[in-house]
Amino acid sequence: MATQKPDGSWDISDEEARQINEISEAESQQRHDQYVRNNMDDPLDLVFRSIVHNHTRSDGCGVNCPMYLKFNHDKTHVTGCGPGCVSWFYLSPQVEEATFLSEPPEEQTREVVRWADEAMFVAKPLTPDTDGQLRPEVTIIHMTADPLRVMAAAAQMYEGDPVYSPNDIPRRLAEEWLRKTLAHNYPAPLEFVDIHFMIRNVTRAFTHQMVRQRQAVYIQESLRFAVKENAAMEVVMPPSISHLSIDDPRRVEWEKAVREIGDSYNALINTGIPAEDARGLLPTNIGTSLHYKTNLRMLREHSGNRLCSQAQHEWKLVWGEFIKAILSYGPASQRWQQKLIASMFKPICYQTGKCEYPLPMGRYCAIRDMVDAHHYAGDTPESWTDINPLVLLHPEVARRAQ
Ligand SMILES: Cc1cc2nc3c(=O)[nH]c(=O)nc-3n(C[C@H](O)[C@H](O)[C@H](O)COP(=O)(O)OP(=O)(O)OC[C@H]3O[C@@H](n4cnc5c(N)ncnc54)[C@H](O)[C@@H]3O)c2cc1C
Repeated sequence: MATQKPDGSWDISDEEARQINEISEAESQQRHDQYVRNNMDDPLDLVFRSIVHNHTRSDGCGVNCPMYLKFNHDKTHVTGCGPGCVSWFYLSPQVEEATFLSEPPEEQTREVVRWADEAMFVAKPLTPDTDGQLRPEVTIIHMTADPLRVMAAAAQMYEGDPVYSPNDIPRRLAEEWLRKTLAHNYPAPLEFVDIHFMIRNVTRAFTHQMVRQRQAVYIQESLRFAVKENAAMEVVMPPSISHLSIDDPRRVEWEKAVREIGDSYNALINTGIPAEDARGLLPTNIGTSLHYKTNLRMLREHSGNRLCSQAQHEWKLVWGEFIKAILSYGPASQRWQQKLIASMFKPICYQTGKCEYPLPMGRYCAIRDMVDAHHYAGDTPESWTDINPLVLLHPEVARRAQ
Protein backbone atom coordinates (compact mmCIF):
# COMPACT_ATOMS: atom_id res chain seq x y z
CA MET A 1 0.00 0.00 0.00
CA ALA A 2 1.13 3.55 -0.56
CA THR A 3 3.22 4.71 2.36
CA GLN A 4 3.57 8.16 3.73
CA LYS A 5 7.08 9.41 4.45
CA PRO A 6 7.94 11.62 7.46
CA ASP A 7 7.99 14.68 5.24
CA GLY A 8 4.37 14.02 4.26
CA SER A 9 5.08 12.77 0.74
CA TRP A 10 3.83 9.45 -0.54
CA ASP A 11 5.45 6.51 -2.22
CA ILE A 12 3.41 4.44 -4.59
CA SER A 13 4.71 1.18 -5.92
CA ASP A 14 4.73 0.31 -9.59
CA GLU A 15 2.03 -2.25 -8.96
CA GLU A 16 -0.17 0.29 -7.23
CA ALA A 17 0.41 2.73 -10.04
CA ARG A 18 -0.56 0.00 -12.52
CA GLN A 19 -3.78 -0.70 -10.64
CA ILE A 20 -4.58 2.96 -10.37
CA ASN A 21 -4.03 3.39 -14.06
CA GLU A 22 -6.80 0.96 -14.71
CA ILE A 23 -9.28 3.45 -13.32
CA SER A 24 -11.11 4.85 -16.27
CA GLU A 25 -11.12 8.54 -16.99
CA ALA A 26 -14.85 8.67 -16.32
CA GLU A 27 -14.39 7.11 -12.93
CA SER A 28 -11.56 9.42 -12.14
CA GLN A 29 -13.76 12.36 -13.02
CA GLN A 30 -16.61 10.96 -10.97
CA ARG A 31 -14.39 10.47 -7.91
CA HIS A 32 -13.05 13.92 -8.23
CA ASP A 33 -16.50 15.45 -8.61
CA GLN A 34 -17.60 13.57 -5.55
CA TYR A 35 -14.70 15.01 -3.63
CA VAL A 36 -15.46 18.55 -4.78
CA ARG A 37 -19.17 18.24 -4.04
CA ASN A 38 -18.86 16.68 -0.63
CA ASN A 39 -15.77 18.48 0.52
CA MET A 40 -14.58 15.20 1.97
CA ASP A 41 -12.11 15.23 4.79
CA ASP A 42 -9.59 12.97 3.24
CA PRO A 43 -9.24 13.53 -0.46
CA LEU A 44 -6.07 11.50 -0.72
CA ASP A 45 -7.45 8.32 -2.16
CA LEU A 46 -9.64 10.06 -4.71
CA VAL A 47 -7.19 12.66 -5.73
CA PHE A 48 -4.07 10.66 -6.00
CA ARG A 49 -5.88 8.17 -8.15
CA SER A 50 -7.11 10.95 -10.33
CA ILE A 51 -3.69 12.48 -10.59
CA VAL A 52 -1.83 9.28 -11.18
CA HIS A 53 -4.33 8.33 -13.79
CA ASN A 54 -3.88 11.56 -15.63
CA HIS A 55 -0.19 11.66 -15.02
CA THR A 56 0.42 8.49 -16.88
CA ARG A 57 -1.79 9.27 -19.81
CA SER A 58 -0.06 10.22 -22.99
CA ASP A 59 -0.50 13.91 -22.25
CA GLY A 60 1.18 13.46 -18.87
CA CYS A 61 4.75 12.27 -18.56
CA GLY A 62 3.67 9.00 -20.09
CA VAL A 63 5.84 6.99 -17.72
CA ASN A 64 4.32 4.49 -15.37
CA CYS A 65 6.54 5.64 -12.52
CA PRO A 66 6.10 5.74 -8.76
CA MET A 67 4.51 8.97 -7.76
CA TYR A 68 5.62 11.54 -5.31
CA LEU A 69 2.58 13.07 -3.63
CA LYS A 70 2.41 15.55 -0.85
CA PHE A 71 -0.55 17.50 0.45
CA ASN A 72 -0.26 20.86 2.04
CA HIS A 73 -1.61 21.30 5.56
CA ASP A 74 -5.23 21.98 4.62
CA LYS A 75 -5.21 19.45 1.80
CA THR A 76 -6.20 21.95 -0.84
CA HIS A 77 -2.97 21.68 -2.78
CA VAL A 78 -1.07 18.64 -3.80
CA THR A 79 2.47 18.17 -4.95
CA GLY A 80 3.57 15.39 -7.12
CA CYS A 81 5.82 13.92 -9.71
CA GLY A 82 7.48 10.65 -10.40
CA PRO A 83 11.27 10.41 -10.48
CA GLY A 84 11.14 9.12 -14.02
CA CYS A 85 9.32 12.17 -15.29
CA VAL A 86 10.75 14.21 -18.06
CA SER A 87 8.25 16.94 -17.33
CA TRP A 88 6.15 17.91 -14.39
CA PHE A 89 2.94 16.04 -14.40
CA TYR A 90 0.06 17.36 -16.26
CA LEU A 91 -2.92 18.15 -14.08
CA SER A 92 -6.22 17.28 -15.59
CA PRO A 93 -8.98 19.89 -15.88
CA GLN A 94 -10.95 18.24 -13.14
CA VAL A 95 -8.05 18.46 -10.75
CA GLU A 96 -7.36 22.04 -11.68
CA GLU A 97 -10.88 23.05 -10.91
CA ALA A 98 -10.35 21.97 -7.35
CA THR A 99 -7.29 24.26 -7.24
CA PHE A 100 -4.76 21.53 -6.85
CA LEU A 101 -1.40 22.91 -7.75
CA SER A 102 1.83 21.14 -8.37
CA GLU A 103 5.04 22.03 -6.61
CA PRO A 104 8.47 20.54 -7.15
CA PRO A 105 9.64 17.85 -4.77
CA GLU A 106 12.13 19.15 -2.26
CA GLU A 107 15.26 17.97 -4.00
CA GLN A 108 14.32 19.99 -7.09
CA THR A 109 14.32 23.75 -7.35
CA ARG A 110 12.44 24.23 -10.59
CA GLU A 111 9.60 26.70 -10.74
CA VAL A 112 6.07 25.34 -10.57
CA VAL A 113 4.91 24.11 -13.93
CA ARG A 114 1.23 23.79 -14.14
CA TRP A 115 0.62 23.71 -17.82
CA ALA A 116 2.51 23.07 -20.99
CA ASP A 117 4.79 26.04 -20.58
CA GLU A 118 6.84 26.86 -17.55
CA ALA A 119 6.16 30.57 -17.95
CA MET A 120 2.44 30.44 -17.23
CA PHE A 121 0.81 31.99 -14.18
CA VAL A 122 -2.73 32.44 -12.98
CA ALA A 123 -4.02 35.94 -13.81
CA LYS A 124 -5.78 37.56 -10.88
CA PRO A 125 -9.46 37.59 -11.91
CA LEU A 126 -11.15 40.83 -12.85
CA THR A 127 -14.01 41.95 -10.65
CA PRO A 128 -17.41 42.42 -12.25
CA ASP A 129 -20.09 44.65 -10.72
CA THR A 130 -23.07 43.07 -8.96
CA ASP A 131 -24.88 42.87 -12.33
CA GLY A 132 -22.02 40.75 -13.70
CA GLN A 133 -20.69 43.51 -15.99
CA LEU A 134 -17.07 44.60 -16.00
CA ARG A 135 -16.66 48.36 -15.71
CA PRO A 136 -13.37 50.26 -15.84
CA GLU A 137 -11.63 50.80 -12.50
CA VAL A 138 -8.82 53.30 -12.07
CA THR A 139 -6.46 53.75 -9.13
CA ILE A 140 -3.63 56.25 -8.90
CA ILE A 141 -0.51 54.46 -7.74
CA HIS A 142 1.47 57.67 -7.60
CA MET A 143 1.14 61.28 -8.63
CA THR A 144 3.55 64.18 -8.22
CA ALA A 145 2.72 65.80 -4.90
CA ASP A 146 1.79 69.46 -4.89
CA PRO A 147 1.53 69.17 -8.68
CA LEU A 148 0.71 72.72 -9.69
CA ARG A 149 3.29 74.19 -7.34
CA VAL A 150 5.90 71.84 -8.84
CA MET A 151 4.81 72.90 -12.32
CA ALA A 152 4.96 76.59 -11.38
CA ALA A 153 8.34 76.17 -9.68
CA ALA A 154 9.74 75.03 -13.04
CA ALA A 155 7.89 77.73 -14.99
CA GLN A 156 9.34 80.49 -12.83
CA MET A 157 12.62 79.84 -14.59
CA TYR A 158 11.15 81.50 -17.70
CA GLU A 159 11.40 84.67 -15.66
CA GLY A 160 14.92 83.93 -14.41
CA ASP A 161 13.74 82.97 -10.94
CA PRO A 162 15.29 79.73 -9.62
CA VAL A 163 12.78 78.19 -7.19
CA TYR A 164 14.21 75.49 -4.95
CA SER A 165 11.02 74.20 -3.35
CA PRO A 166 7.35 73.99 -4.38
CA ASN A 167 6.58 75.31 -0.89
CA ASP A 168 7.93 78.65 -2.07
CA ILE A 169 5.14 78.95 -4.67
CA PRO A 170 2.00 80.65 -3.34
CA ARG A 171 -1.34 79.26 -4.54
CA ARG A 172 -2.08 82.39 -6.57
CA LEU A 173 1.16 82.00 -8.55
CA ALA A 174 0.50 78.32 -9.26
CA GLU A 175 -2.98 79.15 -10.55
CA GLU A 176 -1.58 81.95 -12.67
CA TRP A 177 1.01 79.67 -14.26
CA LEU A 178 -1.62 77.08 -15.05
CA ARG A 179 -3.74 79.72 -16.77
CA LYS A 180 -0.78 81.01 -18.80
CA THR A 181 0.37 77.51 -19.68
CA LEU A 182 -3.02 76.60 -21.11
CA ALA A 183 -3.76 79.94 -22.79
CA HIS A 184 -0.46 80.20 -24.62
CA ASN A 185 1.80 77.72 -26.30
CA TYR A 186 3.91 76.93 -23.21
CA PRO A 187 2.84 73.42 -22.25
CA ALA A 188 6.31 72.19 -21.17
CA PRO A 189 5.86 72.96 -17.43
CA LEU A 190 2.98 70.46 -17.37
CA GLU A 191 5.51 67.72 -18.06
CA PHE A 192 6.90 68.11 -14.55
CA VAL A 193 3.75 66.45 -13.19
CA ASP A 194 3.66 62.67 -13.51
CA ILE A 195 0.68 60.42 -12.92
CA HIS A 196 0.87 56.66 -12.61
CA PHE A 197 -2.49 54.91 -12.96
CA MET A 198 -3.50 51.32 -12.57
CA ILE A 199 -6.41 50.50 -14.84
CA ARG A 200 -8.49 47.33 -14.61
CA ASN A 201 -11.55 45.92 -16.34
CA VAL A 202 -10.87 47.49 -19.72
CA THR A 203 -10.89 45.72 -23.06
CA ARG A 204 -7.93 44.85 -25.20
CA ALA A 205 -9.68 46.91 -27.89
CA PHE A 206 -9.29 49.88 -25.58
CA THR A 207 -5.66 49.22 -24.66
CA HIS A 208 -4.74 48.72 -28.30
CA GLN A 209 -5.91 52.30 -28.89
CA MET A 210 -4.37 53.53 -25.66
CA VAL A 211 -0.83 52.44 -26.37
CA ARG A 212 -0.78 54.55 -29.52
CA GLN A 213 0.05 57.41 -27.19
CA ARG A 214 3.82 57.31 -27.43
CA GLN A 215 4.73 59.64 -24.61
CA ALA A 216 3.77 57.25 -21.84
CA VAL A 217 4.89 53.99 -20.30
CA TYR A 218 2.71 50.93 -19.97
CA ILE A 219 2.88 47.51 -18.38
CA GLN A 220 -0.02 45.31 -19.30
CA GLU A 221 -1.18 41.95 -18.05
CA SER A 222 0.34 39.40 -20.39
CA LEU A 223 -1.82 36.88 -22.15
CA ARG A 224 1.31 34.92 -22.99
CA PHE A 225 2.24 34.29 -19.36
CA ALA A 226 -0.94 35.01 -17.40
CA VAL A 227 -3.65 32.42 -17.89
CA LYS A 228 -7.21 33.56 -17.49
CA GLU A 229 -9.00 30.88 -15.54
CA ASN A 230 -12.42 32.13 -16.46
CA ALA A 231 -11.99 33.98 -19.71
CA ALA A 232 -15.68 33.81 -20.59
CA MET A 233 -16.51 35.85 -17.50
CA GLU A 234 -13.93 38.48 -18.38
CA VAL A 235 -15.26 39.61 -21.72
CA VAL A 236 -16.64 43.13 -21.58
CA MET A 237 -20.10 43.47 -23.07
CA PRO A 238 -20.37 46.62 -25.21
CA PRO A 239 -23.21 49.05 -24.49
CA SER A 240 -25.19 48.24 -27.63
CA ILE A 241 -25.45 44.64 -26.36
CA SER A 242 -25.70 45.21 -22.60
CA HIS A 243 -28.66 47.54 -23.13
CA LEU A 244 -30.63 44.74 -24.76
CA SER A 245 -32.94 42.57 -22.70
CA ILE A 246 -31.37 39.29 -21.62
CA ASP A 247 -33.55 37.29 -24.00
CA ASP A 248 -32.93 39.50 -27.03
CA PRO A 249 -31.55 37.14 -29.71
CA ARG A 250 -28.58 39.43 -30.34
CA ARG A 251 -27.56 39.37 -26.70
CA VAL A 252 -28.13 35.61 -26.60
CA GLU A 253 -25.88 35.28 -29.65
CA TRP A 254 -23.13 37.35 -28.01
CA GLU A 255 -23.26 35.38 -24.78
CA LYS A 256 -23.27 32.04 -26.58
CA ALA A 257 -20.22 32.97 -28.63
CA VAL A 258 -18.35 34.24 -25.56
CA ARG A 259 -19.14 31.09 -23.62
CA GLU A 260 -17.97 28.87 -26.45
CA ILE A 261 -14.75 30.79 -26.86
CA GLY A 262 -14.14 30.62 -23.10
CA ASP A 263 -14.73 26.87 -23.11
CA SER A 264 -12.42 26.32 -26.05
CA TYR A 265 -9.68 28.46 -24.48
CA ASN A 266 -9.90 26.46 -21.24
CA ALA A 267 -9.92 23.17 -23.11
CA LEU A 268 -6.81 24.11 -25.07
CA ILE A 269 -4.93 25.28 -21.99
CA ASN A 270 -5.97 22.19 -20.08
CA THR A 271 -4.73 19.90 -22.77
CA GLY A 272 -1.32 21.45 -22.94
CA ILE A 273 -1.53 24.30 -25.43
CA PRO A 274 0.61 27.22 -24.26
CA ALA A 275 -1.35 30.32 -23.24
CA GLU A 276 0.48 32.40 -25.84
CA ASP A 277 -1.13 30.27 -28.53
CA ALA A 278 -4.52 29.62 -26.92
CA ARG A 279 -5.02 33.35 -26.44
CA GLY A 280 -5.40 33.70 -30.19
CA LEU A 281 -9.00 32.63 -29.69
CA LEU A 282 -9.90 35.28 -27.14
CA PRO A 283 -12.12 38.11 -28.31
CA THR A 284 -10.97 41.72 -28.70
CA ASN A 285 -13.13 42.67 -25.74
CA ILE A 286 -11.34 40.37 -23.32
CA GLY A 287 -10.83 42.29 -20.08
CA THR A 288 -7.34 43.34 -19.13
CA SER A 289 -5.34 45.39 -16.63
CA LEU A 290 -2.42 47.73 -17.08
CA HIS A 291 -0.23 50.31 -15.49
CA TYR A 292 -0.05 53.60 -17.36
CA LYS A 293 2.26 56.45 -16.49
CA THR A 294 2.30 59.72 -18.34
CA ASN A 295 2.65 63.41 -17.61
CA LEU A 296 0.04 66.10 -17.36
CA ARG A 297 0.80 67.63 -20.73
CA MET A 298 0.23 64.34 -22.52
CA LEU A 299 -2.77 63.44 -20.43
CA ARG A 300 -4.46 66.70 -21.31
CA GLU A 301 -3.62 66.26 -24.98
CA HIS A 302 -4.98 62.75 -24.84
CA SER A 303 -8.21 63.90 -23.23
CA GLY A 304 -8.76 66.14 -26.25
CA ASN A 305 -8.72 63.13 -28.58
CA ARG A 306 -10.51 60.65 -26.41
CA LEU A 307 -13.26 62.79 -24.95
CA CYS A 308 -14.18 63.82 -28.51
CA SER A 309 -17.46 62.43 -29.79
CA GLN A 310 -15.42 60.38 -32.27
CA ALA A 311 -13.78 58.26 -29.56
CA GLN A 312 -15.23 54.92 -28.51
CA HIS A 313 -17.51 54.97 -25.48
CA GLU A 314 -15.12 53.00 -23.29
CA TRP A 315 -12.77 55.99 -23.33
CA LYS A 316 -15.43 58.17 -21.75
CA LEU A 317 -15.91 55.63 -18.98
CA VAL A 318 -12.18 55.45 -18.34
CA TRP A 319 -11.87 59.23 -18.35
CA GLY A 320 -14.65 59.45 -15.78
CA GLU A 321 -12.57 57.13 -13.60
CA PHE A 322 -9.33 59.07 -14.24
CA ILE A 323 -11.05 62.23 -13.08
CA LYS A 324 -12.56 60.61 -10.00
CA ALA A 325 -9.16 59.16 -9.05
CA ILE A 326 -7.39 62.50 -9.54
CA LEU A 327 -9.99 64.41 -7.53
CA SER A 328 -9.64 62.10 -4.55
CA TYR A 329 -5.84 61.76 -4.63
CA GLY A 330 -3.54 63.32 -2.05
CA PRO A 331 -4.16 65.26 1.14
CA ALA A 332 -7.22 67.51 1.44
CA SER A 333 -4.93 70.56 1.55
CA GLN A 334 -3.90 69.88 -2.07
CA ARG A 335 -7.35 69.22 -3.45
CA TRP A 336 -7.63 72.67 -5.02
CA GLN A 337 -4.81 71.57 -7.31
CA GLN A 338 -6.49 68.26 -8.07
CA LYS A 339 -9.68 70.10 -9.01
CA LEU A 340 -7.89 72.48 -11.37
CA ILE A 341 -6.12 69.54 -12.97
CA ALA A 342 -9.37 67.63 -13.47
CA SER A 343 -10.92 70.69 -15.13
CA MET A 344 -8.18 70.62 -17.82
CA PHE A 345 -9.50 67.45 -19.42
CA LYS A 346 -11.84 68.37 -22.25
CA PRO A 347 -12.74 67.31 -25.77
CA ILE A 348 -10.36 68.81 -28.33
CA CYS A 349 -12.92 71.35 -29.60
CA TYR A 350 -13.25 72.70 -26.06
CA GLN A 351 -9.47 73.08 -25.96
CA THR A 352 -8.87 74.68 -29.38
CA GLY A 353 -12.26 76.27 -30.11
CA LYS A 354 -12.89 74.33 -33.30
CA CYS A 355 -13.53 70.84 -34.62
CA GLU A 356 -10.20 69.10 -35.21
CA TYR A 357 -11.73 66.03 -36.86
CA PRO A 358 -13.66 67.43 -39.81
CA LEU A 359 -12.34 64.89 -42.33
CA PRO A 360 -14.86 62.98 -44.43
CA MET A 361 -13.69 59.70 -42.86
CA GLY A 362 -14.60 61.12 -39.42
CA ARG A 363 -17.81 60.08 -37.75
CA TYR A 364 -20.97 61.98 -37.06
CA CYS A 365 -20.70 64.58 -34.29
CA ALA A 366 -23.78 65.90 -32.54
CA ILE A 367 -22.16 69.26 -31.75
CA ARG A 368 -19.88 69.90 -34.73
CA ASP A 369 -22.22 72.34 -36.53
CA MET A 370 -22.63 74.45 -33.40
CA VAL A 371 -18.90 74.38 -32.67
CA ASP A 372 -18.14 75.46 -36.25
CA ALA A 373 -20.68 78.28 -36.06
CA HIS A 374 -19.05 79.57 -32.88
CA HIS A 375 -15.62 79.24 -34.41
CA TYR A 376 -16.59 81.33 -37.44
CA ALA A 377 -18.23 83.89 -35.15
CA GLY A 378 -14.98 84.14 -33.16
CA ASP A 379 -16.55 82.87 -29.90
CA THR A 380 -14.36 81.07 -27.38
CA PRO A 381 -15.51 77.77 -25.78
CA GLU A 382 -16.28 79.52 -22.48
CA SER A 383 -19.19 81.25 -24.26
CA TRP A 384 -20.71 78.07 -25.75
CA THR A 385 -23.72 78.08 -23.48
CA ASP A 386 -25.98 76.58 -26.16
CA ILE A 387 -23.93 73.35 -26.32
CA ASN A 388 -24.37 70.63 -23.77
CA PRO A 389 -20.98 68.88 -23.56
CA LEU A 390 -22.57 65.94 -21.76
CA VAL A 391 -24.10 64.73 -25.04
CA LEU A 392 -20.56 63.67 -25.99
CA LEU A 393 -20.68 61.06 -23.24
CA HIS A 394 -23.60 59.17 -24.77
CA PRO A 395 -22.49 55.73 -26.04
CA GLU A 396 -24.14 56.31 -29.42
CA VAL A 397 -23.05 59.91 -29.91
CA ALA A 398 -20.98 59.25 -33.02
CA ARG A 399 -23.61 57.03 -34.67
CA ARG A 400 -26.30 58.27 -36.98
CA ALA A 401 -28.78 55.84 -38.45
CA GLN A 402 -28.94 55.92 -42.25
C1 LIG B 1 -10.92 59.40 -32.81
C2 LIG B 1 -9.66 58.65 -33.17
C3 LIG B 1 -9.71 57.70 -34.16
C4 LIG B 1 -8.54 57.02 -34.53
N1 LIG B 1 -8.60 56.08 -35.52
C5 LIG B 1 -7.46 55.44 -35.88
C6 LIG B 1 -7.47 54.46 -36.94
O1 LIG B 1 -8.51 54.19 -37.54
N2 LIG B 1 -6.32 53.85 -37.26
C7 LIG B 1 -5.13 54.14 -36.63
O2 LIG B 1 -4.10 53.58 -36.96
N3 LIG B 1 -5.10 55.03 -35.62
C8 LIG B 1 -6.21 55.68 -35.23
N4 LIG B 1 -6.16 56.59 -34.21
C9 LIG B 1 -4.87 56.81 -33.50
C10 LIG B 1 -4.13 58.04 -34.06
O3 LIG B 1 -3.76 57.82 -35.40
C11 LIG B 1 -2.85 58.32 -33.22
O4 LIG B 1 -1.96 57.25 -33.39
C12 LIG B 1 -3.11 58.47 -31.74
O5 LIG B 1 -4.19 59.34 -31.52
C13 LIG B 1 -1.85 59.01 -31.04
O6 LIG B 1 -1.69 60.35 -31.43
P1 LIG B 1 -0.31 60.99 -31.84
O7 LIG B 1 0.47 60.06 -32.67
O8 LIG B 1 -0.58 62.35 -32.38
O9 LIG B 1 0.35 61.30 -30.47
P2 LIG B 1 1.22 60.66 -29.31
O10 LIG B 1 1.98 59.46 -29.65
O11 LIG B 1 0.31 60.61 -28.15
O12 LIG B 1 2.24 61.82 -29.09
C14 LIG B 1 1.83 63.06 -28.57
C15 LIG B 1 2.47 64.17 -29.33
O13 LIG B 1 3.88 64.04 -29.23
C16 LIG B 1 4.50 64.40 -30.44
N5 LIG B 1 5.23 63.22 -30.95
C17 LIG B 1 5.21 61.96 -30.43
N6 LIG B 1 6.04 61.17 -31.10
C18 LIG B 1 6.55 61.92 -32.08
C19 LIG B 1 7.46 61.66 -33.14
N7 LIG B 1 8.01 60.46 -33.31
N8 LIG B 1 7.78 62.65 -33.97
C20 LIG B 1 7.24 63.88 -33.82
N9 LIG B 1 6.38 64.22 -32.85
C21 LIG B 1 6.06 63.24 -32.00
C22 LIG B 1 3.39 64.87 -31.37
O14 LIG B 1 3.24 66.25 -31.22
C23 LIG B 1 2.17 64.18 -30.82
O15 LIG B 1 0.98 64.86 -31.10
C24 LIG B 1 -7.31 57.30 -33.85
C25 LIG B 1 -7.29 58.26 -32.85
C26 LIG B 1 -8.44 58.93 -32.51
C27 LIG B 1 -8.38 59.96 -31.42
